[in-house]
Amino acid sequence: MPLEIIKFSSDEKYKKKVMEISGQNFHKCYQCGTCSGSCPMAEHLTILPRRVMALLQLGVKEELDKSNTPWTCASCHTCMVRCPRGIDIAKVMEALRLIRLRQNINQIEPSNLTKKEIVGLPQIAMVSGFRKLTS
Ligand code: SF4
Ligand code: SF4
Repeated sequence: MPLEIIKFSSDEKYKKKVMEISGQNFHKCYQCGTCSGSCPMAEHLTILPRRVMALLQLGVKEELDKSNTPWTCASCHTCMVRCPRGIDIAKVMEALRLIRLRQNINQIEPSNLTKKEIVGLPQIAMVSGFRKLTS
């Protein structure tokens, strides 16, 4: 089977922004996969944390923008505790979210909630959901 050549350009500005906001140097990641193997949310993530680090190292912003991973990450810090390189991956996920939210790109639209959802959902869950998912 012929090799498929994938072309992309590294978005250096994006990489710098993620580093600035998170305070984390994702270039220290050596792709051991411990974070992905430990993540309790793994089955719900479109891109596992190890691959998030690889895409950041390569500066592939488009793939990360399409992913549900930063929004679905539960910020449980299991990956950070186990990472042999001491990378706080939850902080990286937060930085990815903040960059999107600062562009006024909401992940949920509060006005689209139905009356049933507003009445049925616990208020604390709604407030924390809005804080995490809306700009
Ligand atoms: S902080 Fe996020 S990425 Fe890390 S283990 Fe927890 S859910 Fe997974
Ligand atoms: S645990 Fe740390 S070093 Fe290993 S893949 Fe994840 S971020 Fe990289």
